[in-house]
Amino acid sequence: MSTIDKDGMLIDTKVTLKRYTSIEHGDLASVCAVVVHQTDAPSAQHTFNGYNAGGNGAHFLIAKNGDIYQTASTKKRCYHVGRLIKSKCLTLNKSTCDSTEMAKILAKSWSAQIKAMDSHERLKAYPERYPVNSDSVGIEIVGKHIDDKQYEAVTPAQNESLKWLLGELYQHFSLTGSDVYRHPDVSYKNPGEAKGASW
Ligand SMILES: [Zn+2]
Repeated sequence: MSTIDKDGMLIDTKVTLKRYTSIEHGDLASVCAVVVHQTDAPSAQHTFNGYNAGGNGAHFLIAKNGDIYQTASTKKRCYHVGRLIKSKCLTLNKSTCDSTEMAKILAKSWSAQIKAMDSHERLKAYPERYPVNSDSVGIEIVGKHIDDKQYEAVTPAQNESLKWLLGELYQHFSLTGSDVYRHPDVSYKNPGEAKGASW
């Protein structure tokens, strides 16, 4: 089994360490969940070039051929979820929502609604809400966005690597499959992102 070193890096022959401190933004106190993404780039190198410039990014990247890179420390926060999260109770089990508050939020215009929903959800603790940047790690799978609904297919080698990587993260951070989310489930993204990923 892999280990995680003092710098938050996953040590295993299957993982190439390629850390970009440019995409790390402060400390990540705990890891409660994993968010799976697709890059909307044709190759790993495209994403690495972007990471050099800093800004948004995720902790791991899985190339087309299944090679796994760790691009940020699991002890550091990355901006991968986005600013506004969706409501988990509204999506998965409406009866568990605060219905009075939800009705107020849903009566607002779309742009006001998604902001109010995010503020409302952030008052909850995980797993009552979807994960945010301050309690999750991100895994990027290399793949281009095709249209409004689709991304490129996730390759069998990528899915095999994703399963292995998640298995390691489950053990290191005491997570289960219910703590793994596709990016468009958590925030407002192209619904095709990571659709072909399986775990
Ligand atoms: Zn994403």
